[in-house]
Amino acid sequence: MKNIVLLTLLLVSFNTAYATQNTDHRARSLELFRELIGFRTAAGHEQVLPMARLLEQRFLAGGFAAEQVQVLPMKDTAALVVRYPGIADSGKRPIMLMAHMDVVDALPKDWVRDPFTLIEEEGYYYGRGTIDNKAGVVNLTTVFLRLKEEDYTPDRDLIIVFSGDEETTGYTMNTLLSDHRDLVDAEYALNSDGGGGVRDVDGKPISFNMQTAEKTYMTFTLTATNPGGHSSRPRADNAIYELAAALGKIADLRFPVRSNDTTRLYFRRSAELHSGELAAAMRAFADNPDDQAASDYLASQPSFNGLTRTTCVATLLDAGHAENALPQSATATVNCRVWPDESSASVQKALENAVDNSDIRVQLVDGYSSSPPSPLRDDLLAAIEQVLAQQHPATPIIPYMAPYFTDGKYTRGAGIPTYGVGGVFLGPDDHRAHGLDERIPVMSFYESQDFWYQLLKLLTGGDD
Ligand SMILES: [Zn+2]
Repeated sequence: MKNIVLLTLLLVSFNTAYATQNTDHRARSLELFRELIGFRTAAGHEQVLPMARLLEQRFLAGGFAAEQVQVLPMKDTAALVVRYPGIADSGKRPIMLMAHMDVVDALPKDWVRDPFTLIEEEGYYYGRGTIDNKAGVVNLTTVFLRLKEEDYTPDRDLIIVFSGDEETTGYTMNTLLSDHRDLVDAEYALNSDGGGGVRDVDGKPISFNMQTAEKTYMTFTLTATNPGGHSSRPRADNAIYELAAALGKIADLRFPVRSNDTTRLYFRRSAELHSGELAAAMRAFADNPDDQAASDYLASQPSFNGLTRTTCVATLLDAGHAENALPQSATATVNCRVWPDESSASVQKALENAVDNSDIRVQLVDGYSSSPPSPLRDDLLAAIEQVLAQQHPATPIIPYMAPYFTDGKYTRGAGIPTYGVGGVFLGPDDHRAHGLDERIPVMSFYESQDFWYQLLKLLTGGDD
Protein backbone atom coordinates (compact mmCIF):
# COMPACT_ATOMS: atom_id res chain seq x y z
CA MET A 1 0.00 0.00 0.00
CA LYS A 2 2.74 2.37 1.06
CA ASN A 3 4.56 1.60 -2.16
CA ILE A 4 1.50 2.39 -4.19
CA VAL A 5 1.11 5.74 -2.41
CA LEU A 6 4.77 6.54 -2.99
CA LEU A 7 4.51 5.52 -6.61
CA THR A 8 1.37 7.60 -7.03
CA LEU A 9 3.11 10.60 -5.46
CA LEU A 10 6.08 10.13 -7.74
CA LEU A 11 3.84 9.88 -10.78
CA VAL A 12 1.87 12.95 -9.74
CA SER A 13 5.02 15.02 -9.30
CA PHE A 14 6.44 13.72 -12.57
CA ASN A 15 3.21 14.55 -14.38
CA THR A 16 3.09 18.03 -12.85
CA ALA A 17 6.65 18.74 -13.95
CA TYR A 18 5.86 17.37 -17.39
CA ALA A 19 2.66 19.43 -17.63
CA THR A 20 4.38 22.68 -16.58
CA GLN A 21 7.14 22.20 -19.09
CA ASN A 22 4.57 21.25 -21.69
CA THR A 23 2.50 24.37 -21.05
CA ASP A 24 5.58 26.47 -21.60
CA HIS A 25 6.25 24.78 -24.96
CA ARG A 26 2.62 25.19 -25.93
CA ALA A 27 2.69 28.93 -25.27
CA ARG A 28 5.86 29.32 -27.31
CA SER A 29 4.54 27.21 -30.16
CA LEU A 30 1.36 29.28 -30.31
CA GLU A 31 3.46 32.44 -30.51
CA LEU A 32 5.44 30.93 -33.39
CA PHE A 33 2.23 29.75 -35.10
CA ARG A 34 0.90 33.31 -34.90
CA GLU A 35 4.07 34.72 -36.45
CA LEU A 36 4.17 32.17 -39.29
CA ILE A 37 0.51 32.62 -40.28
CA GLY A 38 1.36 36.34 -40.68
CA PHE A 39 3.68 35.60 -43.62
CA ARG A 40 1.74 35.46 -46.90
CA THR A 41 3.92 32.67 -48.27
CA ALA A 42 1.85 32.11 -51.41
CA ALA A 43 3.69 32.07 -54.77
CA GLY A 44 4.56 35.56 -56.00
CA HIS A 45 4.62 37.27 -52.59
CA GLU A 46 8.28 36.45 -51.78
CA GLN A 47 7.58 35.84 -48.11
CA VAL A 48 9.06 32.35 -47.82
CA LEU A 49 12.66 33.57 -47.45
CA PRO A 50 11.84 36.04 -44.64
CA MET A 51 9.85 33.31 -42.89
CA ALA A 52 12.77 30.86 -43.24
CA ARG A 53 15.08 33.54 -41.74
CA LEU A 54 12.80 33.92 -38.73
CA LEU A 55 12.80 30.15 -38.19
CA GLU A 56 16.61 30.13 -38.57
CA GLN A 57 16.84 32.67 -35.72
CA ARG A 58 14.65 30.48 -33.51
CA PHE A 59 16.82 27.42 -34.12
CA LEU A 60 20.04 29.37 -33.44
CA ALA A 61 18.54 30.85 -30.26
CA GLY A 62 17.51 27.31 -29.25
CA GLY A 63 21.12 26.11 -29.27
CA PHE A 64 21.64 24.78 -32.81
CA ALA A 65 25.03 25.58 -34.34
CA ALA A 66 25.17 27.79 -37.41
CA GLU A 67 26.31 24.93 -39.66
CA GLN A 68 23.35 22.83 -38.55
CA VAL A 69 20.82 25.41 -39.77
CA GLN A 70 20.85 26.20 -43.47
CA VAL A 71 18.60 28.57 -45.34
CA LEU A 72 18.89 27.97 -49.08
CA PRO A 73 17.37 30.77 -51.17
CA MET A 74 16.11 29.35 -54.49
CA LYS A 75 14.53 31.49 -57.22
CA ASP A 76 11.90 33.61 -55.43
CA THR A 77 11.48 31.14 -52.58
CA ALA A 78 13.70 29.16 -50.17
CA ALA A 79 14.26 25.91 -48.33
CA LEU A 80 15.33 25.41 -44.73
CA VAL A 81 17.33 22.39 -43.58
CA VAL A 82 18.13 21.77 -39.90
CA ARG A 83 20.20 18.85 -38.70
CA TYR A 84 19.77 17.50 -35.16
CA PRO A 85 22.87 15.40 -34.60
CA GLY A 86 22.44 11.94 -33.12
CA ILE A 87 24.94 9.36 -31.86
CA ALA A 88 27.67 9.50 -34.48
CA ASP A 89 28.70 5.83 -34.67
CA SER A 90 25.32 4.12 -34.31
CA GLY A 91 25.44 3.08 -37.95
CA LYS A 92 21.85 4.26 -38.39
CA ARG A 93 20.98 6.56 -41.25
CA PRO A 94 19.04 9.79 -40.62
CA ILE A 95 15.28 10.32 -40.63
CA MET A 96 14.01 13.26 -42.69
CA LEU A 97 11.13 15.31 -41.26
CA MET A 98 9.13 17.19 -43.89
CA ALA A 99 6.84 20.20 -44.03
CA HIS A 100 6.34 23.03 -46.52
CA MET A 101 6.48 26.74 -45.72
CA ASP A 102 4.43 27.99 -48.70
CA VAL A 103 0.63 28.16 -48.84
CA VAL A 104 -2.03 28.38 -51.52
CA ASP A 105 -2.97 32.05 -51.73
CA ALA A 106 -6.05 33.34 -49.93
CA LEU A 107 -7.95 36.48 -50.89
CA PRO A 108 -8.75 38.44 -47.72
CA LYS A 109 -11.97 39.81 -49.25
CA ASP A 110 -13.41 36.30 -49.60
CA TRP A 111 -12.65 35.22 -46.05
CA VAL A 112 -14.80 35.86 -43.00
CA ARG A 113 -11.61 36.59 -40.98
CA ASP A 114 -8.24 37.91 -42.19
CA PRO A 115 -6.48 34.80 -43.58
CA PHE A 116 -3.03 36.08 -42.56
CA THR A 117 -3.86 36.74 -38.90
CA LEU A 118 -4.14 33.77 -36.56
CA ILE A 119 -7.56 34.05 -34.93
CA GLU A 120 -8.78 31.77 -32.14
CA GLU A 121 -12.52 31.25 -32.09
CA GLU A 122 -14.68 28.59 -30.42
CA GLY A 123 -12.01 25.95 -30.17
CA TYR A 124 -10.34 26.58 -33.54
CA TYR A 125 -7.34 28.46 -34.85
CA TYR A 126 -8.28 30.09 -38.16
CA GLY A 127 -5.86 31.26 -40.85
CA ARG A 128 -4.36 30.28 -44.21
CA GLY A 129 -1.92 27.47 -43.62
CA THR A 130 -3.26 26.41 -40.21
CA ILE A 131 -3.76 22.90 -41.65
CA ASP A 132 -1.68 23.02 -44.81
CA ASN A 133 1.04 22.99 -43.58
CA LYS A 134 2.20 25.59 -41.05
CA ALA A 135 1.03 23.52 -38.07
CA GLY A 136 3.52 20.94 -39.37
CA VAL A 137 6.29 23.56 -39.55
CA VAL A 138 5.54 24.75 -36.00
CA ASN A 139 5.24 21.25 -34.56
CA LEU A 140 8.51 20.00 -35.99
CA THR A 141 10.31 23.20 -34.97
CA THR A 142 8.90 23.06 -31.44
CA VAL A 143 9.82 19.40 -31.03
CA PHE A 144 13.42 20.07 -32.15
CA LEU A 145 13.73 22.96 -29.68
CA ARG A 146 12.21 20.90 -26.90
CA LEU A 147 14.48 17.90 -27.46
CA LYS A 148 17.46 20.25 -27.60
CA GLU A 149 16.47 21.85 -24.31
CA GLU A 150 16.30 18.39 -22.74
CA ASP A 151 19.80 17.62 -24.08
CA TYR A 152 18.29 14.60 -25.79
CA THR A 153 20.57 12.66 -28.13
CA PRO A 154 18.75 10.54 -30.72
CA ASP A 155 20.35 7.30 -31.92
CA ARG A 156 20.69 8.82 -35.41
CA ASP A 157 20.54 12.27 -37.04
CA LEU A 158 17.16 13.89 -37.54
CA ILE A 159 16.87 16.32 -40.45
CA ILE A 160 14.13 18.89 -40.78
CA VAL A 161 13.51 19.76 -44.43
CA PHE A 162 11.09 22.63 -45.00
CA SER A 163 10.40 23.26 -48.68
CA GLY A 164 9.21 26.55 -50.16
CA ASP A 165 6.96 25.72 -53.13
CA GLU A 166 5.17 22.43 -52.53
CA GLU A 167 1.89 23.95 -53.69
CA THR A 168 3.30 25.03 -57.06
CA THR A 169 6.44 23.78 -58.76
CA GLY A 170 8.16 21.53 -56.21
CA TYR A 171 11.44 23.12 -57.31
CA THR A 172 12.94 23.46 -53.81
CA MET A 173 12.43 19.80 -52.84
CA ASN A 174 13.61 18.58 -56.22
CA THR A 175 16.73 20.76 -56.06
CA LEU A 176 17.56 19.62 -52.51
CA LEU A 177 17.31 16.01 -53.69
CA SER A 178 19.36 16.52 -56.85
CA ASP A 179 21.95 19.15 -55.84
CA HIS A 180 22.19 18.88 -52.04
CA ARG A 181 21.67 15.17 -51.48
CA ASP A 182 24.29 14.93 -48.69
CA LEU A 183 22.46 17.60 -46.73
CA VAL A 184 19.11 15.82 -46.80
CA ASP A 185 19.85 12.15 -47.47
CA ALA A 186 17.93 9.84 -45.14
CA GLU A 187 16.89 6.23 -44.63
CA TYR A 188 13.27 7.34 -44.77
CA ALA A 189 11.14 10.46 -44.38
CA LEU A 190 8.16 11.38 -42.21
CA ASN A 191 5.92 13.95 -43.84
CA SER A 192 3.73 16.24 -41.74
CA ASP A 193 1.89 17.19 -44.95
CA GLY A 194 0.08 13.86 -45.34
CA GLY A 195 -1.89 11.47 -43.19
CA GLY A 196 -3.48 12.23 -39.86
CA GLY A 197 -6.43 11.33 -37.72
CA VAL A 198 -10.12 11.20 -38.53
CA ARG A 199 -12.82 12.17 -36.03
CA ASP A 200 -16.54 11.61 -36.39
CA VAL A 201 -19.11 14.43 -36.04
CA ASP A 202 -19.00 14.07 -32.25
CA GLY A 203 -15.22 14.46 -32.18
CA LYS A 204 -14.55 10.80 -31.43
CA PRO A 205 -11.35 9.49 -33.12
CA ILE A 206 -12.16 6.87 -35.78
CA SER A 207 -8.85 6.13 -37.45
CA PHE A 208 -5.27 7.28 -37.97
CA ASN A 209 -4.39 7.41 -41.64
CA MET A 210 -0.80 6.94 -42.74
CA GLN A 211 0.02 7.95 -46.30
CA THR A 212 2.56 5.60 -47.90
CA ALA A 213 1.97 6.23 -51.60
CA GLU A 214 0.68 8.91 -53.91
CA LYS A 215 -0.88 8.40 -57.30
CA THR A 216 0.61 10.48 -60.07
CA TYR A 217 -1.25 12.86 -62.32
CA MET A 218 -1.08 12.91 -66.12
CA THR A 219 -3.12 14.78 -68.69
CA PHE A 220 -3.50 13.74 -72.33
CA THR A 221 -5.29 15.24 -75.31
CA LEU A 222 -7.05 13.17 -78.00
CA THR A 223 -7.32 15.02 -81.29
CA ALA A 224 -9.17 14.20 -84.52
CA THR A 225 -8.55 16.37 -87.59
CA ASN A 226 -10.38 16.60 -90.91
CA PRO A 227 -10.26 18.72 -94.10
CA GLY A 228 -13.69 20.10 -93.11
CA GLY A 229 -15.88 21.99 -95.58
CA HIS A 230 -19.36 23.47 -95.84
CA SER A 231 -21.97 21.97 -93.52
CA SER A 232 -24.43 21.78 -96.43
CA ARG A 233 -22.17 19.10 -97.97
CA PRO A 234 -21.57 16.61 -95.16
CA ARG A 235 -18.96 13.95 -95.85
CA ALA A 236 -18.77 10.52 -94.28
CA ASP A 237 -15.76 11.31 -92.10
CA ASN A 238 -16.17 13.96 -89.41
CA ALA A 239 -13.73 15.00 -86.68
CA ILE A 240 -16.45 15.30 -84.01
CA TYR A 241 -17.93 11.88 -84.77
CA GLU A 242 -14.48 10.31 -84.80
CA LEU A 243 -13.56 11.87 -81.50
CA ALA A 244 -16.92 10.92 -79.99
CA ALA A 245 -16.39 7.31 -81.03
CA ALA A 246 -12.90 7.38 -79.51
CA LEU A 247 -14.24 8.79 -76.24
CA GLY A 248 -16.85 6.02 -76.09
CA LYS A 249 -13.94 3.59 -76.05
CA ILE A 250 -12.14 5.58 -73.34
CA ALA A 251 -15.33 5.43 -71.27
CA ASP A 252 -15.20 1.63 -71.51
CA LEU A 253 -11.45 1.42 -70.84
CA ARG A 254 -10.67 -0.36 -67.60
CA PHE A 255 -7.04 -0.46 -66.56
CA PRO A 256 -5.89 -3.73 -64.97
CA VAL A 257 -6.59 -4.19 -61.27
CA ARG A 258 -3.63 -3.21 -59.12
CA SER A 259 -2.89 -3.50 -55.42
CA ASN A 260 0.03 -3.11 -53.03
CA ASP A 261 0.53 -3.76 -49.28
CA THR A 262 -0.83 -0.30 -48.55
CA THR A 263 -4.10 -0.65 -50.44
CA ARG A 264 -4.67 -4.23 -49.24
CA LEU A 265 -4.21 -3.23 -45.60
CA TYR A 266 -6.28 -0.10 -46.26
CA PHE A 267 -9.21 -2.21 -47.47
CA ARG A 268 -8.77 -4.79 -44.70
CA ARG A 269 -8.87 -2.16 -41.96
CA SER A 270 -11.49 0.06 -43.65
CA ALA A 271 -13.82 -2.95 -43.82
CA GLU A 272 -14.06 -2.72 -40.01
CA LEU A 273 -15.43 0.83 -40.35
CA HIS A 274 -18.07 -0.08 -42.96
CA SER A 275 -20.85 -2.64 -43.24
CA GLY A 276 -22.85 -4.70 -45.74
CA GLU A 277 -21.80 -5.28 -49.33
CA LEU A 278 -19.08 -2.61 -49.22
CA ALA A 279 -17.37 -4.15 -46.18
CA ALA A 280 -17.62 -7.62 -47.75
CA ALA A 281 -16.06 -6.40 -51.01
CA MET A 282 -13.25 -4.65 -49.13
CA ARG A 283 -12.48 -7.81 -47.19
CA ALA A 284 -12.64 -10.04 -50.27
CA PHE A 285 -10.36 -7.67 -52.22
CA ALA A 286 -7.86 -7.53 -49.34
CA ASP A 287 -7.76 -11.34 -49.26
CA ASN A 288 -7.51 -11.72 -53.00
CA PRO A 289 -7.18 -8.75 -55.38
CA ASP A 290 -7.94 -11.16 -58.26
CA ASP A 291 -11.49 -11.60 -56.92
CA GLN A 292 -13.23 -9.91 -59.80
CA ALA A 293 -16.63 -9.50 -58.17
CA ALA A 294 -14.94 -7.63 -55.32
CA SER A 295 -12.84 -5.34 -57.54
CA ASP A 296 -15.87 -4.67 -59.78
CA TYR A 297 -17.93 -3.66 -56.77
CA LEU A 298 -15.18 -1.33 -55.48
CA ALA A 299 -14.70 0.12 -58.97
CA SER A 300 -18.41 0.99 -59.06
CA GLN A 301 -17.90 3.25 -56.01
CA PRO A 302 -16.33 6.61 -57.00
CA SER A 303 -14.53 6.88 -53.62
CA PHE A 304 -12.76 3.54 -54.06
CA ASN A 305 -12.47 3.09 -57.83
CA GLY A 306 -9.14 4.93 -57.92
CA LEU A 307 -7.70 2.65 -55.23
CA THR A 308 -8.11 -0.41 -57.44
CA ARG A 309 -6.36 0.76 -60.63
CA THR A 310 -5.16 3.63 -62.82
CA THR A 311 -8.13 5.70 -64.00
CA CYS A 312 -8.51 8.08 -66.96
CA VAL A 313 -11.52 10.28 -67.56
CA ALA A 314 -12.54 12.89 -70.16
CA THR A 315 -12.71 16.34 -68.55
CA LEU A 316 -12.73 18.97 -71.38
CA LEU A 317 -13.89 19.21 -75.01
CA ASP A 318 -12.97 21.66 -77.76
CA ALA A 319 -14.31 21.06 -81.27
CA GLY A 320 -15.32 22.84 -84.46
CA HIS A 321 -15.05 26.51 -85.37
CA ALA A 322 -18.44 27.57 -86.84
CA GLU A 323 -21.99 26.30 -86.70
CA ASN A 324 -22.19 26.08 -90.51
CA ALA A 325 -18.80 24.46 -91.12
CA LEU A 326 -17.65 20.86 -90.92
CA PRO A 327 -15.23 20.57 -87.97
CA GLN A 328 -11.55 20.69 -88.92
CA SER A 329 -10.50 19.52 -85.50
CA ALA A 330 -11.92 18.08 -82.30
CA THR A 331 -9.92 17.70 -79.11
CA ALA A 332 -10.77 16.10 -75.79
CA THR A 333 -8.72 16.40 -72.60
CA VAL A 334 -8.35 13.19 -70.63
CA ASN A 335 -7.03 13.33 -67.07
CA CYS A 336 -5.42 10.23 -65.59
CA ARG A 337 -4.63 9.30 -61.97
CA VAL A 338 -1.91 6.79 -62.37
CA TRP A 339 -0.73 3.90 -60.21
CA PRO A 340 2.55 5.04 -58.63
CA ASP A 341 4.91 2.77 -60.59
CA GLU A 342 3.32 3.18 -64.05
CA SER A 343 4.97 5.37 -66.71
CA SER A 344 3.37 7.98 -68.96
CA ALA A 345 4.42 5.88 -71.96
CA SER A 346 2.47 2.86 -70.72
CA VAL A 347 -0.64 4.95 -70.03
CA GLN A 348 -0.41 6.57 -73.47
CA LYS A 349 -0.11 3.10 -75.05
CA ALA A 350 -3.22 1.92 -73.18
CA LEU A 351 -5.18 4.94 -74.44
CA GLU A 352 -3.99 4.41 -78.02
CA ASN A 353 -4.87 0.71 -77.90
CA ALA A 354 -8.33 1.46 -76.53
CA VAL A 355 -9.04 4.09 -79.21
CA ASP A 356 -7.62 1.80 -81.91
CA ASN A 357 -7.67 4.51 -84.60
CA SER A 358 -4.37 5.86 -85.87
CA ASP A 359 -6.13 9.05 -87.07
CA ILE A 360 -6.69 10.07 -83.45
CA ARG A 361 -3.55 11.68 -82.07
CA VAL A 362 -2.90 10.98 -78.37
CA GLN A 363 -0.50 13.47 -76.74
CA LEU A 364 0.82 13.86 -73.22
CA VAL A 365 0.39 17.50 -72.16
CA ASP A 366 1.26 17.25 -68.49
CA GLY A 367 2.99 14.40 -66.78
CA TYR A 368 5.14 13.56 -63.81
CA SER A 369 7.71 10.92 -63.15
CA SER A 370 6.64 7.84 -61.26
CA SER A 371 7.02 7.48 -57.52
CA PRO A 372 7.00 3.98 -56.03
CA PRO A 373 4.88 3.21 -52.95
CA SER A 374 6.86 3.04 -49.71
CA PRO A 375 7.04 -0.37 -48.02
CA LEU A 376 5.30 -0.57 -44.64
CA ARG A 377 7.81 -0.43 -41.76
CA ASP A 378 7.07 -2.48 -38.66
CA ASP A 379 9.13 -0.19 -36.41
CA LEU A 380 7.17 2.86 -37.54
CA LEU A 381 3.78 1.16 -37.25
CA ALA A 382 4.68 -0.08 -33.75
CA ALA A 383 5.83 3.38 -32.66
CA ILE A 384 2.69 5.08 -33.96
CA GLU A 385 0.55 2.40 -32.30
CA GLN A 386 2.32 3.08 -29.01
CA VAL A 387 1.74 6.84 -29.20
CA LEU A 388 -1.90 6.37 -30.21
CA ALA A 389 -2.42 3.93 -27.33
CA GLN A 390 -1.79 6.88 -24.99
CA GLN A 391 -3.51 9.62 -26.96
CA HIS A 392 -6.46 7.83 -28.57
CA PRO A 393 -6.64 4.22 -27.42
CA ALA A 394 -8.03 1.65 -29.87
CA THR A 395 -7.69 3.89 -32.92
CA PRO A 396 -6.70 1.73 -35.93
CA ILE A 397 -3.84 2.80 -38.22
CA ILE A 398 -4.94 2.73 -41.85
CA PRO A 399 -2.22 3.03 -44.49
CA TYR A 400 -3.45 4.70 -47.67
CA MET A 401 -2.45 5.83 -51.12
CA ALA A 402 -3.36 9.46 -51.79
CA PRO A 403 -5.13 10.32 -55.05
CA TYR A 404 -3.27 13.69 -54.99
CA PHE A 405 0.42 14.40 -54.41
CA THR A 406 2.79 16.29 -52.08
CA ASP A 407 6.59 16.68 -51.85
CA GLY A 408 6.48 13.00 -50.84
CA LYS A 409 6.18 12.14 -54.51
CA TYR A 410 9.64 13.60 -55.15
CA THR A 411 11.32 12.02 -52.11
CA ARG A 412 9.85 8.62 -53.01
CA GLY A 413 10.90 9.15 -56.61
CA ALA A 414 14.44 9.86 -55.34
CA GLY A 415 14.55 6.58 -53.42
CA ILE A 416 13.64 7.81 -49.92
CA PRO A 417 10.59 5.90 -48.61
CA THR A 418 8.16 8.49 -47.24
CA TYR A 419 5.32 8.25 -44.76
CA GLY A 420 2.63 10.90 -44.28
CA VAL A 421 1.95 10.85 -40.55
CA GLY A 422 0.68 14.39 -39.91
CA GLY A 423 -0.76 13.53 -36.52
CA VAL A 424 -3.51 16.17 -36.71
CA PHE A 425 -7.01 14.79 -35.98
CA LEU A 426 -9.74 16.49 -38.02
CA GLY A 427 -13.52 16.26 -38.04
CA PRO A 428 -15.76 16.10 -41.13
CA ASP A 429 -16.01 19.91 -41.36
CA ASP A 430 -12.32 20.64 -40.87
CA HIS A 431 -11.01 19.70 -44.34
CA ARG A 432 -10.50 23.22 -45.62
CA ALA A 433 -6.94 23.11 -46.93
CA HIS A 434 -6.67 25.33 -50.04
CA GLY A 435 -10.24 26.57 -49.33
CA LEU A 436 -11.98 29.31 -47.39
CA ASP A 437 -11.77 29.76 -43.62
CA GLU A 438 -9.08 27.11 -43.15
CA ARG A 439 -8.84 26.09 -39.50
CA ILE A 440 -7.35 23.58 -37.09
CA PRO A 441 -8.99 22.45 -33.83
CA VAL A 442 -6.96 23.95 -30.95
CA MET A 443 -6.87 20.58 -29.21
CA SER A 444 -5.64 18.81 -32.36
CA PHE A 445 -2.83 21.34 -32.81
CA TYR A 446 -1.34 20.58 -29.39
CA GLU A 447 -2.07 16.86 -29.55
CA SER A 448 -0.18 16.61 -32.83
CA GLN A 449 2.79 18.35 -31.20
CA ASP A 450 2.85 15.72 -28.44
CA PHE A 451 2.40 13.07 -31.12
CA TRP A 452 5.58 14.15 -32.93
CA TYR A 453 7.53 14.52 -29.70
CA GLN A 454 6.72 11.01 -28.53
CA LEU A 455 7.02 9.43 -31.96
CA LEU A 456 10.50 10.83 -32.59
CA LYS A 457 11.71 9.70 -29.19
CA LEU A 458 10.36 6.19 -29.73
CA LEU A 459 11.96 5.97 -33.16
CA THR A 460 15.37 7.16 -32.00
CA GLY A 461 15.99 5.13 -28.90
CA GLY A 462 14.28 7.33 -26.30
CA ASP A 463 11.65 5.66 -24.16
CA ASP A 464 8.96 8.30 -24.10
ZN1 LIG B 1 0.35 20.70 -48.15
